Amino acid sequence: MTSATKEQILYALKSVDSGTGGLDVTARGWVQDVVIKDGHVAFALEVPPDLGPKLEPVRAQAEKAVYDLPGIISATVVLTAEKKSAGGTPKNKGGSKRDRLALPSIKSVIAIASGKGGVGKSTTSANIAVSLAKLGKKVALFDADIFGPSMPRMLGLAGQKPHSDGTKVYPLENHGVKVMSMGFMVAEDNPVIWRGPMVMGALEQMLKDVEWGDIDVMVVDMPPGTGDTQLTMSQRVPLAGAVIVSTPQDIALLDARKGLNMFRQVEVPILGMIENMSHYICPSCGHRDDIFSTGGAEKTAHELETDFLGGIPLDLKIRETSDSGTPIVLADPESPHAKAYIDIAKKIAAKLDDGIAKTAPKISMGG
Ligand code: ADP
Repeated sequence: MTSATKEQILYALKSVDSGTGGLDVTARGWVQDVVIKDGHVAFALEVPPDLGPKLEPVRAQAEKAVYDLPGIISATVVLTAEKKSAGGTPKNKGGSKRDRLALPSIKSVIAIASGKGGVGKSTTSANIAVSLAKLGKKVALFDADIFGPSMPRMLGLAGQKPHSDGTKVYPLENHGVKVMSMGFMVAEDNPVIWRGPMVMGALEQMLKDVEWGDIDVMVVDMPPGTGDTQLTMSQRVPLAGAVIVSTPQDIALLDARKGLNMFRQVEVPILGMIENMSHYICPSCGHRDDIFSTGGAEKTAHELETDFLGGIPLDLKIRETSDSGTPIVLADPESPHAKAYIDIAKKIAAKLDDGIAKTAPKISMGG
């Protein structure tokens, strides 16, 4: 299959009127950051801030113009209204609430975050979301990990596409959880390479265009790490709280501290820390082995004056069940692992019900 070139894409976009006095979107100079990868195309339309909301039809038209080119598997166009600054770091410390997105049909949004990748953040998000649904909550899972969207696979929705009626997108649902993920648009093993300012645009688009319906708790699987994307995300999304997932190794814990500090900087309450791959229970003899010195997250949680929500053992079954699309809380509900997740979900639900009475003190990281 051949894939379009940047020139072909720009040529196709000449047919898209900017809606601002006769010029097309390329002539206006709005087309930025065109990324093409194996038939997947993404770019931003950088428009004047005051016109932003009015230009949704232009965005949709641009997306269609590119999608209609031969060899295109997906086209993702986002509206951005920000010129890239040289430094590019969002600076509004204290994260004013005024700037947060409105998600009126969703009671609480929580972020599941980690200081670095590979610690089991997505596995935890999937199991917590399903656990909350088992507890009777109306649950949504928003996969914001657009660099490696794994929710379609983990929740048994791989290869499916959400339905759209042209204005709204309807989330897919499985295991009692409504799911939206960039993984429905692009292949998990072949994600679009996003550039800084586009990420937030794409995420906002995904959050706002989706008809979520009434939701008690939305679980957001955050992109790993504590860079600009994560900071912007935690400023823009109206988060009721954040959960930090860490492994017991010290190095990961240092990253976890950064994650914790990031949320505090933008005044998002920390619901607590989870230690993943915390210990190993021998499947044949039931012996518990603390392969990495366990308890690091608990100790750190106390040091940082936040709650320790629980530890999840390292077990092949946890990986196998999420790889096969039915998280362990459903696949093996009587297992100690399932109980550990449910227990954590109960603590989270209780905190949300209490309005997270305990406010997090600020900490200083010394850089
Ligand atoms: P992240 O979202 O932090 O990048 P993932 O949730 O994708 O991490 O997990 C990374 C890998 O570790 C996956 O293969 C997952 O199945 C596996 N994994 C996560 N938690 C556990 C666990 N408690 N026991 C065994 N494997 C796990």
